[in-house]
Amino acid sequence: MDDKTVFEDLKSKVFHCTKCPLFRTKTHYVFGSGSMNATIMFIGEAPGANEDRIGTPFVGRAGKILDELLTSIGIRREEVYIANILKCRPPQNRNPSSDEIAACVDYLNIQIDIIKPEIIVPLGSFASKYILQKYDLPFQSISQVHGKIFRKNTIFGAIYIIPMFHPAVATYNPQKKGVLLEDIKKLSDILSENMIKS
Ligand code: URA
Repeated sequence: MDDKTVFEDLKSKVFHCTKCPLFRTKTHYVFGSGSMNATIMFIGEAPGANEDRIGTPFVGRAGKILDELLTSIGIRREEVYIANILKCRPPQNRNPSSDEIAACVDYLNIQIDIIKPEIIVPLGSFASKYILQKYDLPFQSISQVHGKIFRKNTIFGAIYIIPMFHPAVATYNPQKKGVLLEDIKKLSDILSENMIKS
């Protein structure tokens, strides 16, 4: 099977998933969006109310901030891939439980293996913890790791990992917007220093 077929097959598996109870309370599964050939992959936590209603990641207030961050470094949303740790919305936007994460992350891991990003940007504490630990990198807190550039060899080549605060922080703490803008600049620096192939 080629990658496109595997990806479509995975999407269909997600759309029929009953691995954790969240499928009962969700409106839409939120698989992910963007280019399968993306060099950069953003990984959020879980769909919120707007994402659940529409079926697309980061379409609410946090999504607007993510769009602003991308625009600040001249990248269009269509060029990157955006996914979440959880494919279904936790009720009342509560934190994902460890059981829900364990049940769902295989989907994300297959997405990563197919897309083979050169840069992964986990957004917020849950995504950063999961991604850093997946690659045997230390995670203590998002405050400690945000904006740092990690380099790691994977089965599909060396990748950069740049954890960032979740864009939603800027909706309740406008000062954090500056930190987000500074952190995303690191991504831009990597791209412009030709540290990756595209
Ligand atoms: N927050 C997330 O982590 N993901 C989304 O898709 C929307 C908000």
